[in-house]
Amino acid sequence: MKSSPKQVIWLVTGSQELYGPGPLKQVAENSRVIARSLSAEKGIPMKVVFKSLLTTSEGVRALCLEANQSPECAGLVLWMHTFSPSRMWIGGLSLLRKPFAHLHTQFNRDLPWSEIDMDFMNLNQAAHGDREAGFLHARMRLPRKIVVGHWQDPEVIERLGAWMRVVRGWQDMQGARFARFGDNMRRVAVTEGNKVSAETLFGYQVDGYSVGDLVKEVNAVSDAEVNRLCADYADRYTMAPALRRGAKRHSSVREAARIELGLRAFLQKGNFKGFTTTFEDLHGLRQLPGLAVQRLMAEGYGFGAEGDWKTCALLRMMKVIGEGLGGGTSFMEDYTYHLDPSGSLVLGAHMLEICESIASGRPSLEVHPLGIGGKEDPARLVFSAPAGPALNASMIDLGNRFRLIVNEVDVVEPPAPLPKLPVARAIWKCRPDFKTACGAWIRAGGAHHTAFSYSVTAEHLRDFAEIAGIELVLIDQETRLSGLEKEIRWNEAYYHLAPIGRP
Ligand code: MN
Repeated sequence: MKSSPKQVIWLVTGSQELYGPGPLKQVAENSRVIARSLSAEKGIPMKVVFKSLLTTSEGVRALCLEANQSPECAGLVLWMHTFSPSRMWIGGLSLLRKPFAHLHTQFNRDLPWSEIDMDFMNLNQAAHGDREAGFLHARMRLPRKIVVGHWQDPEVIERLGAWMRVVRGWQDMQGARFARFGDNMRRVAVTEGNKVSAETLFGYQVDGYSVGDLVKEVNAVSDAEVNRLCADYADRYTMAPALRRGAKRHSSVREAARIELGLRAFLQKGNFKGFTTTFEDLHGLRQLPGLAVQRLMAEGYGFGAEGDWKTCALLRMMKVIGEGLGGGTSFMEDYTYHLDPSGSLVLGAHMLEICESIASGRPSLEVHPLGIGGKEDPARLVFSAPAGPALNASMIDLGNRFRLIVNEVDVVEPPAPLPKLPVARAIWKCRPDFKTACGAWIRAGGAHHTAFSYSVTAEHLRDFAEIAGIELVLIDQETRLSGLEKEIRWNEAYYHLAPIGRP
């Protein structure tokens, strides 16, 4: 995946000069040990660098300004080894624009019961130092993640690692460009939204293009490039004899390859991280881009069908968050239901555009007619998604804010073969159950389009919502409709009072 540049996390330790230089030297050394140890952990996706030990307002301010400016710094982990009087953090933290996590830890895990003395107490004082910091963060209403426990505790490492993945996704989003071919589909409401609000909050831009700009790139693709890509398809996918080179329907595959090459060239030239299409605006393209979209998503591009730029941006970020975790992430649509009273299921799919990264086994490349759009029969990959825990996430624009709605689901093997369904699909059970989840989703206004992932977790998306300052509605095993309805009403009031997004 065309991912972000190498960035690091700064570990910053707060202290004060009360105990003289000796203990401070020791605390700086301890901080170095923590940073090195975290960096070496498998679950920590970024290098953690001990940046400084701060004891003055001037130092804090300078550090926060440096963090804002530094392309290397993705975010900060703050740890208050000792009392670090919090007023000295006000000036700096009010300027800080990078996300931070507050690590509430202590260098020594255990108390040395028989030897504990005041020197030990002075070196292991986060119990009150971090409380002083916590008060200030709360007083300033600062978005942050709080992680509690010894720095070698596997659970602490996991929480911090998850947050760092989100920080990486967040940084990838800053300045990201998404190309939008055509406008919205028909009169669909949920895929609309305010792009100015989105750019202000999330830092990405959505730029519109005529599909003719794409057609120009598609027409410029050489036959030699198409040949090479078709050979690659033949290696990677199961194909019916009629689609193979020299056979009568091979031209449909070649056309799909040409669209893929043209689309990739367009995205590369403009340095885009994702794109949207709409089947109502395909003038000059002979097929709806299906296979091309599936393969570009697998490379890490965000995608939204029918002009859905919000899902496109969300999908790209979720791909960055989940990179290397195993288990793919795809554009998805709740398509149809199996309303068996003994266990209702959702069949998720799209006309064509489901990412190859969620395929279980070798996909089948097929060409079938498409009932809408009035174009030639498009090529697409057909497969089922594997069983396992996953989630669906939907970003909606409520006019005064964005709401991210997440439902944890359990993907199941298709209960029976689906020989006549010519699209990629995933079949899942909703948590806590079908009626509660769908009732909650509809109450919250969640879209039919989602970003669907096996690797991104509710914790990741909660961390993202915290950084972006947006509302999160989580539908999981614990959800009860009555509670969720109240949460939504209360949020309505909260978001009229709270500042919208980051300061
Ligand atoms: Mn759709």
